[in-house]
Amino acid sequence: MRGAGLLAGLLAIPGLAQSAPRAPVDYAAERAAIARYQDADQRLQDAGWRLARANAPFCPVVVQAIGLQLQDMASYGVPAIARTALGLRREIAVQTAARGSPAAASGAFTRNREIAALGPLDPNSLAAAPQFEWQRLARLHNHIEAMLTEHGGIAVVFADGETARVAPVEVCASRFELMGDGDKAVADGARVVIGVGFPAFAYPEDEIFAALVAHELAHNVLGHDAWLDRHGRSDRNVRRIEREADRLVPWLLANAGHDPAAGPRFMRRWGARHDAGLRMRRKHEGWDERAQHMERELPAVAALLAATGKADWAVHFRREISIAD
Ligand SMILES: [Zn+2]
Repeated sequence: MRGAGLLAGLLAIPGLAQSAPRAPVDYAAERAAIARYQDADQRLQDAGWRLARANAPFCPVVVQAIGLQLQDMASYGVPAIARTALGLRREIAVQTAARGSPAAASGAFTRNREIAALGPLDPNSLAAAPQFEWQRLARLHNHIEAMLTEHGGIAVVFADGETARVAPVEVCASRFELMGDGDKAVADGARVVIGVGFPAFAYPEDEIFAALVAHELAHNVLGHDAWLDRHGRSDRNVRRIEREADRLVPWLLANAGHDPAAGPRFMRRWGARHDAGLRMRRKHEGWDERAQHMERELPAVAALLAATGKADWAVHFRREISIAD
């Protein structure tokens, strides 16, 4: 729990432990708190989609995706409050359709629209824990990906009976998940997970926010988690993969149509206020050095963009580690 100014509204946000309330529930506040959380998730999914889609030609592993993020009432601390606040009867509804994705282009996936079927599966029929459930959502996103891979599309039936048929496109194999608690950003090889309290959510410029997401995506597309598993998480090894992720940021941004210099701009803005100093310094270099590493990539990125219209990092990016080890 963070701070003393918690509204009843935060009762229903996933990740916050909370017992059933004794006071009457302020559903307007609940609704507003959930909407703020969903706004943050939308921003993350928009940024993640744009990067993962534009860099697909260079990613070592790609997957079929439509840019749809679901929500599960069972993931909330008090599901009954969330369901009432949102006016839902079922368990599973739309959370976000990423901007520019096939799901968004269909126009069908509006926020909080209830879902009755994902292909042959009624997602509401799967067993789930009574609260703080996250596995069901992961299984449903796996199910969607499997349908897209095996059938080249998916028919999604909404609670009102309408059906949307959506065909996928290729994206880099990484999911993006907002965490309802904390201010950390991590990448575990399959997912980029960012806490809703991370300072970059307060940065108004989308390309600066995208630089944070790009750093975490870089860890996944460069195979860092698996490499650390093989070679050990010594401070020296972590510094190497952190530097490599920083250096890839301008490339990922450029392919997504962002200013690649938003990378060092993010690092200077974030670092000047949040660099944890010596404690962090063992695993990361100082934010000023990190910004400089990013800046040194800019001429190569600019030259490739001018010559070929893209920044092919699969061919032209100099690795800090040998991924074949
Ligand atoms: Zn990192």
